[in-house]
Amino acid sequence: RAPSLTLLGLGDMGTALARGWLAAGYSVTVWNRTPGRARALVAAGARPAESAAAAVATNSLVVTCLLDDASVGAVLEGVDLTGRDLVDVTTGTPAEARQRGAWAAGRGARFLSGGIMAVPPMAGIPEAGGYVLYSGSAELFETHRAALAVPFAARFVGSDAGHAALQDVALLSAMYGMFAGVTHAFALVRGEREIPLKEFAPLLSGWLTAMSASIEQTAEQLQSGDYGSGVVSTMAMQAAGIGTFVGTAHEQGVSPQLLTPYFDLMKRLVDDGRGAESAAGMVDLLAPGDGR
Ligand code: NDP
Repeated sequence: RAPSLTLLGLGDMGTALARGWLAAGYSVTVWNRTPGRARALVAAGARPAESAAAAVATNSLVVTCLLDDASVGAVLEGVDLTGRDLVDVTTGTPAEARQRGAWAAGRGARFLSGGIMAVPPMAGIPEAGGYVLYSGSAELFETHRAALAVPFAARFVGSDAGHAALQDVALLSAMYGMFAGVTHAFALVRGEREIPLKEFAPLLSGWLTAMSASIEQTAEQLQSGDYGSGVVSTMAMQAAGIGTFVGTAHEQGVSPQLLTPYFDLMKRLVDDGRGAESAAGMVDLLAPGDGR
């Protein structure tokens, strides 16, 4: 008999997950609030359920991929979860994931929260590098490890149901910082006819890749508490360059608004007498509670 699971939520991501499991030979029972969205999947072999409750009753493994935590609550309201293994890959905050875990436990279900580090077209294509961070019930993860690893690689990151969401949001937050920098860089050069954006783009992506080597150094410094040994680019040196960045933005008619909050923290660090250190101290400024 084919391995089976239930999937609630057939948006772009839910549909991609379903296709991944169907392609791997799984029997997938599907339900979506707007029934029409199941049609193409049913044609591809998925089994439609009349209701969320009927879908949940069909399989022990139940995956939810909905818009937000509130929609998970709405869809599962009044549904019998006794003995189910609920895997929620809906993006949410760590506290939402923990509360959802406690809520599921109160209804007799094991719970795993997932943070999807991929976009839908990467599903079922291991070379694309997408993966899902999972936290919560280790037993659930072990039981369904094979199924969970089908659409995207599956990584268990601990028993705190909030930790998958926390790392998901941390990774995406860093991505937005990078996008902010890329946005500013393009704004600076776009008006220049002699700087073709197609030639500038590989310089930009190559530079960001090279600079990402600093991430592991920062982690080591934060862990050791030593922000001063062997620093190549001190805060004082970097802060001295702020005028160049703001000046260039003004020369090009570009607002520096995406960069100035970061520069303000740099200046504060230097004002605090930490100009000889690396940028790791900026983490302390953001999160004073767990600094050195
Ligand atoms: P879509 O907007 O395409 O789909 C949203 C889904 O949620 C639909 O199935 C929709 O049903 C359902 N839904 C929304 N509100 C409710 C409600 N109140 N009650 C019942 N169902 C509801 O989103 P995605 O599929 O792209 O994303 C799903 C999750 O996956 C999100 O949490 C997202 O953050 C996460 N994710 C998405 C990625 C992406 O690139 N798409 C990447 C990584 C994570 P209906 O069809 O009836 O509207």
